[in-house]
Amino acid sequence: LVSEIVRGVSEMLEPVASAQGVRLVVEEVDPCLQVHVDRIQLERALINLGSNAVKFTPAGGVATISTQRDGQSVTIAVADTGIGIPEQDQAKLFDRFFRASNANAQAIPGTGLGLAIVRAIVEGHGGELGFESTEGVGTTMTIRLPLVLSPAPRRSRPGNAARSSTV
Ligand code: ATP
Ligand code: MG
Repeated sequence: LVSEIVRGVSEMLEPVASAQGVRLVVEEVDPCLQVHVDRIQLERALINLGSNAVKFTPAGGVATISTQRDGQSVTIAVADTGIGIPEQDQAKLFDRFFRASNANAQAIPGTGLGLAIVRAIVEGHGGELGFESTEGVGTTMTIRLPLVLSPAPRRSRPGNAARSSTV
């Protein structure tokens, strides 16, 4: 269930956010939304996005995790009121080791691998990773995944990763 994953991730991020002076808001999640994923991997992807949101947001800002159903898919959005990504850096955002100029200029640490990993995970599950960002205003990263429409299948569908299950 998406709601369980989001709750677990927000519990892990909460101490990091409060240490940074960033308020973490989790908007209520429809308790019935199901996706067919490797749970550990989806958690890792959301933790990467959430820790970016916290890391690139100055104290006093807000990071919000929200979930929205749109037709046959679900979009999990991680939004922040942080430094944003300069337009000229946006095209390379998912490249390995790429870090935006403002992140480097402010000496915010990181290797630039997080988003490359997130993209691999999301695309490996038939999903899409997107973003929208304005420098100095904030960033929203979105993971869109196909929903499992009820009644839930009892077995893994063929063609999906062996470790995937419906959660
Ligand atoms: P790592 O995740 O490997 O520790 P990182 O956080 O620097 O390092 P990525 O998560 O891959 O690397 O992100 C790549 C770059 O994209 C970041 O260095 C930063 O410039 C930019 N970025 C990512 N998320 C945000 C965000 N929420 N706000 C502003 N910039 C961001
Ligand atoms: Mg990162």
